[in-house]
Amino acid sequence: MMERARKILQDVFGYQEFRLEQANIIKTLLSGEDVLALMPTGGGKSLCYQIPALVREGTGIVISPLIALMQDQVAALHQLGVKAAYLNSTLSFDQIRQVENALLNGRLDLLYVAPERLMTADMLRLLDRAKLALFAIDEAHCVSQWGHDFRPEYKQLSILHERYPGVPRIALTATADARTRDEIITELGLDGAAQFISSFDRPNICYHIHEGDNHRQALWRFLAKHHPHDAGVVYCMSRRKTEEIAGWLCEMGRKALPYHAGLPAEVRQQHQDRFLREDGLIIVATIAFGMGIDKPDVRFVAHLNLPKSIEAYYQETGRAGRDGAPASAWMSYGMRDVILLRQMVEDSPGSELFKRVMHAKLEALLGLCDTASCRRQVLLAYFGEELTKPCGNCDNCLNPPEQFDAAEAAQKALSCVYRTGQRFGANYVIDVLLGKQDERIKRFGHDRLSTFGIGSDIPQSEWKSIFRQLVLQGFLISDVEGHGSLVLTEKARPLLRGEQKLMLRKRKRKKGLKSERAAKTSTPVRQVELSPADEPLFEALRALRLKLARQQNVPPYVIFHDSALMQLAMIRPKTASDLLLVNGIGEKKVSAYGEAFLAEIAKFPRR
Ligand code: ADP
Ligand code: ZN
Repeated sequence: MMERARKILQDVFGYQEFRLEQANIIKTLLSGEDVLALMPTGGGKSLCYQIPALVREGTGIVISPLIALMQDQVAALHQLGVKAAYLNSTLSFDQIRQVENALLNGRLDLLYVAPERLMTADMLRLLDRAKLALFAIDEAHCVSQWGHDFRPEYKQLSILHERYPGVPRIALTATADARTRDEIITELGLDGAAQFISSFDRPNICYHIHEGDNHRQALWRFLAKHHPHDAGVVYCMSRRKTEEIAGWLCEMGRKALPYHAGLPAEVRQQHQDRFLREDGLIIVATIAFGMGIDKPDVRFVAHLNLPKSIEAYYQETGRAGRDGAPASAWMSYGMRDVILLRQMVEDSPGSELFKRVMHAKLEALLGLCDTASCRRQVLLAYFGEELTKPCGNCDNCLNPPEQFDAAEAAQKALSCVYRTGQRFGANYVIDVLLGKQDERIKRFGHDRLSTFGIGSDIPQSEWKSIFRQLVLQGFLISDVEGHGSLVLTEKARPLLRGEQKLMLRKRKRKKGLKSERAAKTSTPVRQVELSPADEPLFEALRALRLKLARQQNVPPYVIFHDSALMQLAMIRPKTASDLLLVNGIGEKKVSAYGEAFLAEIAKFPRR
């Protein structure tokens, strides 16, 4: 049966080799056993159930929480000649009838269904009468009530196990720490399932985290330098901010659209469609945007606020570069985010346990933001994976931050907070440290404190950075009333008494061996793989793809991925059988598009 699976991989999907654990997962499902598959976004989860559904007799039922995603997946499968359909609320009564008949007559390889629909009595009765190949439970982490995508309907999916004991199930997710993994197993009754955990590393994503105040300027510099024409997503915390930033990007000459839950459904749909179908569009969104987006050529994901946890950060950044080509995950955050998020956890109505879990998640994220070592190492360590060497593709690797022994400076800072009565914000305390001649300081008598002027050897900007890092690392917190006054924590004590060492980052990064220049050359740009001579052909092929996509009203990548076009531009095949050499081009696509693309390629003879 694996023979057949491999043949389908090559003939239908046009791929030469299985990736990660795909082969093992498929083998297990084909033998009728249950599977829990953890794979990073873009790892190729869909093939893990699509191929077994094609090999096994009957229809594979795919439970997927998002309607938009379903439609695109089915459209992509049709392009490959696979008999697929979906059932959801967008279909008319007649259309539903047709799909149901196809299912009962064994004319479907794959059927996508939303979880709430699957659980209806009608649907279950329908399934009772159909021949089933397998159940695939996509985005299985939605079953976790600790997660940010909790969907109560998912909890009922254990019924599948009881009602259809002979049908193998596969649960798939890209986000799972050990706790979520256990929850998936318990809630879905997957105790006996074989587990396949692929590396969570996304080597094509370059991570960059930046702390500072001027987000817009920082974002603009990042876009101008690394992604002057690319499509991407910018995440913001508030609805208002998404609109402001989108408007501003348009003024700056980029194509940008806002997306948030407050927009009318049609507008959201329209913006999402444009993002999928046009080239180089930027979506500025709250986290309401993303889970349903399966666009493989998102070249960057930028955060203008802190996400809530590393899981959220990983999932959101994971939307970049699913096609495997270089992509960026960039974040700029401010101290206000840190203070706000800590407060939100504190004020949340949940139980004490819930708060402790949330606090721990937030602190883990702050640790990632603050680290001076390889981001990828910290990120993967969080998911229980060890990366033995620094990655060479994150900001800290490319441009190592300089650190200094900050024990004494921190001691001065904390002591000054203490002596001024823990009633002031960082700016005031810094003025006291610097020994400023200031009316207010005199009025409070703080010019007579032992800490007055003891920090004049360090410039104000450097002090600001020190205070930020002290807040980030939890030595100081902002007061509960939210006036921004700094208060010492328990953790500050050993530091204050000089019993603890502390290294902090200097504001300026080292300009060492791997400085700007190195950062530039290893920077995610598509062109690195394409020689200038092949560019015009690549652009022509892109235009052709767009035209064909428009005719059929499908996203361009459903026809061919960027990576396939790049290969076409580089190898310039002359015959239909040459086309099959390209990774990602199978037989169906050759017969549908081969002629048009070969004709275009013929217009660009090699010189
Ligand atoms: P996920 O659902 O895990 O995010 P997808 O199933 O959407 O990922 O796959 C991501 C991309 O990788 C898709 O474009 C898919 O066609 C491609 N892909 C999957 N398996 C392979 C493979 N074995 N070889 C090459 N490309 C693959
Ligand atoms: Zn690194």
